[in-house]
Amino acid sequence: MTRALPPITRLLAGLLAVALVSACGIVRAPSMDRRGADSFEDDVVTARTLTEQFWSRQFQQLGRTYRPISDFIPYSGSAGPSCGDEPAVPNNAFYCPLGHFIAFDQGWMEGLWSDMGDGSVYVIIPHELGHAVQAQLRTGFTLNVQMELQADCYAGGTLSALVDSGALTTEPGDENELIRSLAAAGDPTDDWLNPAAHGTAEQRQASFARGYQDGVGAC
Ligand SMILES: [Zn+2]
Repeated sequence: MTRALPPITRLLAGLLAVALVSACGIVRAPSMDRRGADSFEDDVVTARTLTEQFWSRQFQQLGRTYRPISDFIPYSGSAGPSCGDEPAVPNNAFYCPLGHFIAFDQGWMEGLWSDMGDGSVYVIIPHELGHAVQAQLRTGFTLNVQMELQADCYAGGTLSALVDSGALTTEPGDENELIRSLAAAGDPTDDWLNPAAHGTAEQRQASFARGYQDGVGAC
């Protein structure tokens, strides 16, 4: 694919492909990073850096100042930082408003990166940073699902802006990666399986697609 945005129809068509190939393994997709930085560590740093630069500009345009997260903490299994009374759990990434930091199970995220492609990192990290943005915007949402769907929308809007600006390039297969990665996006808790917690797969994909198509202002 070129630097042009993939039409949303292609994003959605990707869903069907996902269903078809999910049982037989996924071929690793090419890197989204235009520098060709192909290591997991590089992608993680790039995703964080580009996303925070994007939000910094967005805030500037509103006459405000984006407050970068205070820490970005890789952890292993259960050995992550707690957030208030909530202990870190394996196979997760989360934003902690107490402390304004993001933490992620590094082995889990690297597994997604190798199995699903680097698009996974470029969905999960912008999603979590979307929560860091929400904490600064005082959204007024009362339901968790509203926060989660907006974070998905923010992730979509961030990615399309980065692709538009040339900071990221997408390749064939990236749409599928991004869509699949939504299902794996972080901060599950005990109610991970409860659709109300993060939204159904369809809601999450639609929310991501809205951001991707119309930008974060539509979120
Ligand atoms: Zn979330």
